[in-house]
Amino acid sequence: MSTPTTHDTASWQAADAAHFLHPFTDFQQLAQKGSRIITKADNLYLTDSEGNRLFDAMSGLWCVNVGYGQQSLIDAAAHQMKELPFYNSFFQTTTPPAVELAQLLAEVTPPQFQHVFYAGSGSEGNDTVVRMVRRYWDLQGQPERQVIISRWNGYHGSTMAGASLGGMKYMHAQGGLPIPGITHIDQPHWLEHGAGMTRDAFGLKAAGWLEQKILEVGPDKVAAFIGEPVQGAGGVIVPPATYWPEIQRICDKYNILLVSDEVICGFGRTGNWFGCETMGTKPDLMTFAKGVTSGYIPLGGVMVGDRVAKALIEQGGEFEHGYTYSGHPVACAVAIANIKLIQSLKLVERVRDETGPYLAAQFAKLNDHPLIGETQTCGLMASMQLVKAKDRGDGHPAMFDSALEVGMLCRGHCFANGLVMRAVGDRMIIAPPLVMTIAQVDELMGLIHKCLDLTLGDVRARGWV
Ligand SMILES: *Cc1c(COP(=O)(O)O)cnc(C)c1O
Repeated sequence: MSTPTTHDTASWQAADAAHFLHPFTDFQQLAQKGSRIITKADNLYLTDSEGNRLFDAMSGLWCVNVGYGQQSLIDAAAHQMKELPFYNSFFQTTTPPAVELAQLLAEVTPPQFQHVFYAGSGSEGNDTVVRMVRRYWDLQGQPERQVIISRWNGYHGSTMAGASLGGMKYMHAQGGLPIPGITHIDQPHWLEHGAGMTRDAFGLKAAGWLEQKILEVGPDKVAAFIGEPVQGAGGVIVPPATYWPEIQRICDKYNILLVSDEVICGFGRTGNWFGCETMGTKPDLMTFAKGVTSGYIPLGGVMVGDRVAKALIEQGGEFEHGYTYSGHPVACAVAIANIKLIQSLKLVERVRDETGPYLAAQFAKLNDHPLIGETQTCGLMASMQLVKAKDRGDGHPAMFDSALEVGMLCRGHCFANGLVMRAVGDRMIIAPPLVMTIAQVDELMGLIHKCLDLTLGDVRARGWV
């Protein structure tokens, strides 16, 4: 079961370029450069095919929250594969892991959630959200309530509905998106939109954009608002504290459903089980994926709050929707093992009380670095904005010309020095595994400082600052 010895790095790269169309990738560029081949991992550390060790500060893709190599998850998958590798949950059948996980999810999620609808990924979960909120309003006798409001620079997946809900304009530009009935408001990103305002005042203003949009669309046509508690792929943008309570107030005022996309924020990332708890909202629906299995196997879904569940169950008849892999028994068995491990290691408490506050303190110190214009953290997700100057005269930093790709320069230094950190434009972001220790935070900060200094050296040498 070791890595096949028939391939070395060069031959893996050649076969990869010849046959594998990677997601979100410029195929020609990849073929020229050759992919990095990850062969193994343990705890927080990846090994590539050249034997390099990398500190994985991105938890794979925001998902490997319990770290790599957890035996209880491996055992759960192996056991379930032997016992029953697959059976569906259509036609009034079910499997023990799917039932047990549903019960466990009802326990760890906020009290309004007693029901789950399973999907295979976060994107599929959000497709289910679109189907379900429209179905809900049909059942309420208000079928004209079709419109879902989301945010520019939000990320909700890559299927037709997921990419439409998301606010990535470069995704909309390919394939005629968004699909009808989805509209966007600006994100609560103080650096981008809040010049001259305090963060708290800006948070209220940004939430007000939702009310404006509701009035523009017509309150009787709006079905739901969806957002990530903290935007992940958009650049770990932590909204001002005033934002989410005001969003909740507006949703309540117009009686529209609130959907929290917890695909990244769920299962401990923000220092509570779910991001909505950190932000103080009471959503009607919650999308989950990634951290539910720590990425060991694909699983996603939607937690369905009482308001919607009651309508679907009591008035619904058949809900004409579902996936072959809804409630896949192996995926559910791994999720159960994962959640039990989060509980037994007290990972949520550790993020909330120990590693989260410690990371926040270390990130605050980065503000002394000449390249850094802003840092934000929430639990174990964090961002830092690389800037040309800390103050352009109005208290707001001056940004680099985006064509210089300073973020990519920094990311290159990270890879070369054994650190996986992501660049979203010139915003460097991390979301390390929740098993990270205090000593590992120190190790991470050492790597970050080193890479920032190397980037600063480049930027100065090129005369960009
Ligand atoms: C990753 C992500 C998704 C999409 O999940 P997939 O499993 O990639 O389909 C949806 N929402 C958020 C917030 C995400 O981060």
